[in-house]
Amino acid sequence: MAPPGKGGWDRAGPAGFALFLALAAAPSLVFALLAFTGALRPAWAAAAWAACTLVAASFAVLLARDMLAMTRLVRELRAAPDTPPAAPRLRLPGMGELGTEALRLIQAERLARRRGMASAAEARALVERLPDPLLKLDGEGRVIWRNGSAISAFGGETAALLRHPALRAALAQALREGQPVRREISLTVPVARDLEATLIPVGGPAYLLVSDRTRERALEKMRADFIANSSHELRTPLASLIGFIETLRGPAADDREAQRQFLQIMAEQAGRMQRLIDDLLSLSKIEISEHSPPREMLALPPLLERIAAAMEPMVKAHKARLAVALPPDLPPIPADADQLAQLFTNLLDNALKYGRPGGEIRLSAGAGADERLPPGGVWVAVADEGPGIPREHIPRLTERFYRVDKGRSRSVGGTGLGLAIVKHVVSRHRGRLLIESEPGRGTVFTVWLPGPPGQTDKTGP
Ligand code: ADP
Repeated sequence: MAPPGKGGWDRAGPAGFALFLALAAAPSLVFALLAFTGALRPAWAAAAWAACTLVAASFAVLLARDMLAMTRLVRELRAAPDTPPAAPRLRLPGMGELGTEALRLIQAERLARRRGMASAAEARALVERLPDPLLKLDGEGRVIWRNGSAISAFGGETAALLRHPALRAALAQALREGQPVRREISLTVPVARDLEATLIPVGGPAYLLVSDRTRERALEKMRADFIANSSHELRTPLASLIGFIETLRGPAADDREAQRQFLQIMAEQAGRMQRLIDDLLSLSKIEISEHSPPREMLALPPLLERIAAAMEPMVKAHKARLAVALPPDLPPIPADADQLAQLFTNLLDNALKYGRPGGEIRLSAGAGADERLPPGGVWVAVADEGPGIPREHIPRLTERFYRVDKGRSRSVGGTGLGLAIVKHVVSRHRGRLLIESEPGRGTVFTVWLPGPPGQTDKTGP
């Protein structure tokens, strides 16, 4: 930078003087020669020389001033890049136009740079806020940069991912071919995760975009398991039916006692298949409606009393007792009567099947505040005095076909879908299911169902 005070004369002054010398030197020489040889009278030569020198000096002064103006302009642009400078006033013919064009060029370049910077900032903000982890890797697979999602998804633990042989191979392929490469990667540490990694080469480095597919894979597996389990559950009674039909046609064709026995077993197996198909259909129907909670208001006591009355013959058959305690002023709630009937029938049915033979089953309800349950709404509990459920099984009870004791479930006609149906009905009602069991003392299933939307707890203390 020029020292303050000189104002650019250090460059413009010598340049102007040099121009003056260049312009004045040739005419001076010519006029001196003409005067010396007598071709021109000395007075005329001196007058012509003076005129030429005056023109050269004026021209040099104008040039020096224009250079000074341009130097100042460049300096201003450098000192305050965001302030548009005033157009310089240039005197030399053509210089004014040149100066204006130079200024326009600079302003156009500034604008383009500002736009470029804005769009780069936008792109950076976008990748920074991408919901999926994004990492920039060098050719060796080292992290150069990563976005917020990558930090929260992996923290400092990217090593397991970056050292994964499939990822290293994909990086090498992406860099070699210059094309994006996608790979499925399963990590076991620090937690089991199924990831989809896409490597996008951009010249030297490559971007790694990671999508977590753990939930989708678990759902796919659940669906595949469900189909396999359903087929297996149906195949067993079907194989038994086919076997008995063959026996009845062949070896037992004339044995009336065997026929009577076999037909009894066949009827049981057919009943089992029917219950299974009914439960499968119910489950799929409930799942379809699960996204839209019921709106119709329903008073629970009459429904529960009807269910209890319908269960009475089964209760008698088990020599059990059913104690019903329902407050008559239970507030109505938005509910699907058919689905709730199925839910409470399944819970009472289980209490009978797995409860203590000759024991008591209690069906109770309430609307009071309970710290185990969300505020408001109503709760219904089914308690039995059976052997209870070991703690480790409780979290998995509502999985389809999950049974604590397979043999016992089958022997009492269980399909393994009863509690899965309960879970989905509760979830459609946006409610809660609480399972409390003490081995040797019994089990309590509590279903909490919310009141109408927007209603706050009016029953709490
Ligand atoms: P299932 O048709 O086999 O009864 P569920 O889904 O209704 O299927 O129940 C799943 C498993 O939970 C049952 O097989 C049983 O082992 C256990 N279970 C359910 N209710 C009770 C209960 N009241 N007491 C003890 N165990 C129970």
